[in-house]
Amino acid sequence: MVEASEEVYSSLRRRFKGDLLRPGNSGYEDARTIWNGMVARAPGLIARCAEVSDVPNAVRAASEIGILTAVRCGGHSLAGFSTCDGGMVIDLSRMRQVTVDPEARRARIAGGCLLGSVDAATQKAGLVFPSGVVSHTGASGLILGGGTGWLTRRFGLSCDNVEGFTLVTADSSFVRADSKENPDLFWALRGGGGNFGVVIEFELKLHPFTAVVLAEGLSPEANIRPLLEYWRDFMAEAPVDLKWNIDLRLAPHTKKVPLELCGRPVASNSLIWTGDPEAGRPYLERALSMCSKDSVRTKIVSFLNLQTMADSDFPHGRRYYTKSGYFTYLDDGTIDRMVEAVATIPSSETQIELAYLGGAAAEVAGTETAFGDRSAPFIINLLANWSEVSADAGNISWIRGLFNRLRPAMKPGVYINFMSGDEQDRVPEAYQERWDRMVTVKSHYDPNNFFRLNQNVPPRKLSAQRS
Ligand SMILES: Cc1cc2nc3c(=O)[nH]c(=O)nc-3n(C[C@H](O)[C@H](O)[C@H](O)COP(=O)(O)OP(=O)(O)OC[C@H]3O[C@@H](n4cnc5c(N)ncnc54)[C@H](O)[C@@H]3O)c2cc1C
Repeated sequence: MVEASEEVYSSLRRRFKGDLLRPGNSGYEDARTIWNGMVARAPGLIARCAEVSDVPNAVRAASEIGILTAVRCGGHSLAGFSTCDGGMVIDLSRMRQVTVDPEARRARIAGGCLLGSVDAATQKAGLVFPSGVVSHTGASGLILGGGTGWLTRRFGLSCDNVEGFTLVTADSSFVRADSKENPDLFWALRGGGGNFGVVIEFELKLHPFTAVVLAEGLSPEANIRPLLEYWRDFMAEAPVDLKWNIDLRLAPHTKKVPLELCGRPVASNSLIWTGDPEAGRPYLERALSMCSKDSVRTKIVSFLNLQTMADSDFPHGRRYYTKSGYFTYLDDGTIDRMVEAVATIPSSETQIELAYLGGAAAEVAGTETAFGDRSAPFIINLLANWSEVSADAGNISWIRGLFNRLRPAMKPGVYINFMSGDEQDRVPEAYQERWDRMVTVKSHYDPNNFFRLNQNVPPRKLSAQRS
């Protein structure tokens, strides 16, 4: 029997303008890898689209033959959804065009863009699109899930800054979604992930912005508890110009880290101030008052520097596992549990990432987009990061154990882009009261669940069959 991927290949090869890569072809090995080294899969066919017409052709061929299909932009799905064994990957990495209209403060970006391609083009016009903090992340996956980053408090989530989407749906037709045309789909695409089709173009709203004050410092182990208590109360009153992220981790052995802290549990503080630098000084000084003096650094950095400074901390090919949630308030017991956990961290790169949202993101009503809860300002991401296969069990069980201990104090809800591949049962939790509306939109645009390699919302008839 001819394998489904061979059938799709035969159906596509005359009309497809991009690359069709099968196991054994030159370039296949590179093309099949994604960012998370834990997810090593071998698709039967990688359809790397060169132009827009390749996308409906690939969707049509795959759906007619009924092959499992993944969609890939930057390949950073923590859960590994942008690849599969034996099926097909629609790879958009050749579609990275960005067109900026400086007057209108708008950009059109193609579905394969990385954040770095968007930043580079928009900064030429002195404009920004608020997105994530690592430039090699794909823009599509990030925006469709929501998109948090340095400028979330100032300008909102990435999805809040999308004016329109053009996508190819499961029946291989082109569909536009914006506030006037297909508004339900527009609602669902802002937080609903890859459930509804392949987005080939996003129309983005931009903001004038080029530089920030960046302040960093390490708080020694003894200060972690008081620091977290201080941060919790301080951020509730902080201006939107301030973003303060804290990573609990083991301090790296680098020249920048005071010797006595190297390899020790620390709270690594990273803050930006987006307003007038002088007005920010008192806030930054207070925030860094519990840091080791030798570790404190404050400087003005360009937006492009800010966006790339964490790139090397999250290299491709390492092994990653994550669990995430929200807190309305960080109670003392939760802080105690995090402080205890950081003393037992299993890998030097593993960290408890804490961010405070609020600001512009919280001003958008929870009903306005499919994105999850905006009312709980504390977001936690437990991110294990290691290199040896032999350390898989230790790292994964450390994350799961800590998550289980923190979970009772969390507000129900989860950000879909910070979920692992083993959390399908939490997808309804991500959408909560928005779930029924999500299922309705899904049932309309993808009744057979062609797009199912994602934090999946099954269409109605499939949900009914399952229950
Ligand atoms: C190093 C790193 C840093 C990160 N930093 C942040 C951050 O600062 N803020 C934040 O919010 N998140 C962050 N994330 C999480 C990130 O948002 C998700 O991993 C996101 O899915 C990555 O998008 P991608 O396009 O690279 O992923 P891919 O693996 O390419 O795609 C992920 C999923 O998105 C869907 N998808 C991708 N492209 C399309 C498309 N064109 N049309 C339809 N569906 C599509 C598909 O369902 C696919 O399975 C980070 C992740 C990593 C690995």
